[in-house]
Amino acid sequence: MIGDRQVIVFHDERMLGHRPDVENPFLPGRLDKRVREILAGLVVKWNYPEHPGRITAVTDLLGQNPVPGVRMEPGVSATAEQLRRVHTSSYVEDIYALRAQHAWLDVDTTAVSPGSVEAAEVAAGTAIAAVEAVIQGRADSAFAVVRPPGHHAEPVRARGFCLFNNVAVAAAHAQAALGCRKVLIVDWDVHHGNGTQDIFWADPDVLFFDIHRAAPFYPGSGHLHEVGAGLGEGTTVNVPLPGGAGDVAMVKAFREILVPAADWFRPDLILVSAGFDAHRLDLALNVSYQGFATMTGLLMELADRHSEGRLALVLEGGYHTESLSHGIRTVLEVLAGGGWQEPEECGVREVMDAAAFHRNAFRDE
Ligand SMILES: [Zn+2]
Repeated sequence: MIGDRQVIVFHDERMLGHRPDVENPFLPGRLDKRVREILAGLVVKWNYPEHPGRITAVTDLLGQNPVPGVRMEPGVSATAEQLRRVHTSSYVEDIYALRAQHAWLDVDTTAVSPGSVEAAEVAAGTAIAAVEAVIQGRADSAFAVVRPPGHHAEPVRARGFCLFNNVAVAAAHAQAALGCRKVLIVDWDVHHGNGTQDIFWADPDVLFFDIHRAAPFYPGSGHLHEVGAGLGEGTTVNVPLPGGAGDVAMVKAFREILVPAADWFRPDLILVSAGFDAHRLDLALNVSYQGFATMTGLLMELADRHSEGRLALVLEGGYHTESLSHGIRTVLEVLAGGGWQEPEECGVREVMDAAAFHRNAFRDE
């Protein structure tokens, strides 16, 4: 029943201070010039899609329509030491130097505004707070509703709206400070988590499972044969899907690839890079709320089996505010003990009903 399990949602107003605006003058340089040229060549005016309204849509919905068993807590800021576990010192210093400035960091649309560095520190720190809450047993599961997102951020590079790799910072903290040895990271965002893959590429203690829309869809990585290297060969698992794939494909991949991999790996903690841009309203894949609910339920079963139930989700993408907010609310209902119903191929039930309805229409009695 909803309310049987305790869930903490972490969010923090400081993450709303990240407001890149393409109309502002940015730090001068070659990259700024190149981005200006690209923007000037677009037929339709481009706005930064990763905006504060994404988060306020979620908190507004949860305020109007709370989920029993779910309580809200503020986030915390990550320290330089915590960030340096997955990013180089010089990269962290370079980002810190951008406080109070407007700058482009990449042609992949990663920009900062005066509040962005603090927002990124809070996003990473809040992912850590979610992990601490489940490891300390203060909640059965936790959801860090953060921005900027993180899974495209590499050790030395900001990409795809991401500055610091929030889920990787949280995984590294669990290992370095909270006594977890093995961490499973499941990335169901529609885009491949290239940064997370890069960070743990040769690490046998982090199993990274990523299901995403296949290249050449952004960022272009995540091919089937990318399985890690060195001691970590085999602990990176990519499942690329064609555009339009939906619930049935997602759930099949979870049952037939993720579940056996996790049963083999036996994680001490499960983290999720939870993007909601695989929802059909975001137009890249065809996942429904029921699909997200089932993926959540399967992860809860894995966490109960291997990780003392310890499950923490960290928000990644999701740019349609309706599917983002309702997707998160759906996941929270399952986390709170509401159960889920296995999804079917969209429309099949309706066709069966219609077939029964028309069955006698074309018979000569
Ligand atoms: Zn995404």
